Order: sequence, then C-alpha cells, then structure tokens
Amino acid sequence: MPRSDQAAEVCKVHQQDLQSKEGFTFGSNVSADPLWDYVRFMDEERFPNVTPWDFSPRQSDLHPTLITIHYCPQCDAEFDAGFEKFRQLPEEDKEAAFDARLRRQIQKDKEAEQDGDGDA
Ligand SMILES: [Zn+2]
Repeated sequence: MPRSDQAAEVCKVHQQDLQSKEGFTFGSNVSADPLWDYVRFMDEERFPNVTPWDFSPRQSDLHPTLITIHYCPQCDAEFDAGFEKFRQLPEEDKEAAFDARLRRQIQKDKEAEQDGDGDA
C-alpha cells in the first residue's frame, strides 16, 4: 500500500505507476524557453508524465535547484524515440504536425465547453 503523502500516481496513458527521481531544475532567476522543436512535438495527451524539459540529473549553474519529480518511464521512452524522429523531419512537416495538434486541441476545448458541466 502506498504510504507517501500522495498515493502512488498512475500514468493515465500507460497505466504505469509513476517513478520518482531527484535532480535539478532552474534557479528562480532563470527564465528560459524550451527548444522550438520541443514545443512543437510535446503533447501532454501522449506524454502526460514525461520528465520535464527543465529537469537535469546533474547540478550546474543553470540547474542549481534540487527537486524530486514524478515521471512515467514509458512516457520518457516514447517521447525520446518520437522526438528523435521529429527533429529529423523537414521544417514544413514539423509545422504541419504542430498545426494539426493545435487544431485538435482547440476542437477538444470547444467540445469540453459545449459539454458544459464545469467542475463542481
Ligand atoms: Zn506514461
């Protein structure tokens, strides 16, 4: 039985228990953006528990702050494999994929609005 303060979370895509790992993230004085390729490829529906892009296993000037994250190894594996391929696509295919995903997202948001039961 789970006895941490949060019950074991499960990845809703892969039905796997999330793992935790310690690492480092940006200091509060750092503001940075992920790679544009990353922004276009990252899809929270597909990889809801992927290791965040600002997470680093090693401490550095850029990543001074200790954190513990919860991640899904399957999300990480699929993200890494997919991202590797995505980066090799021609620019126009990247844009098209990004565009298609944004459209799907907008459509979903619309449907959610129309379903109209806001949370209690
Ligand atoms: Zn997952």
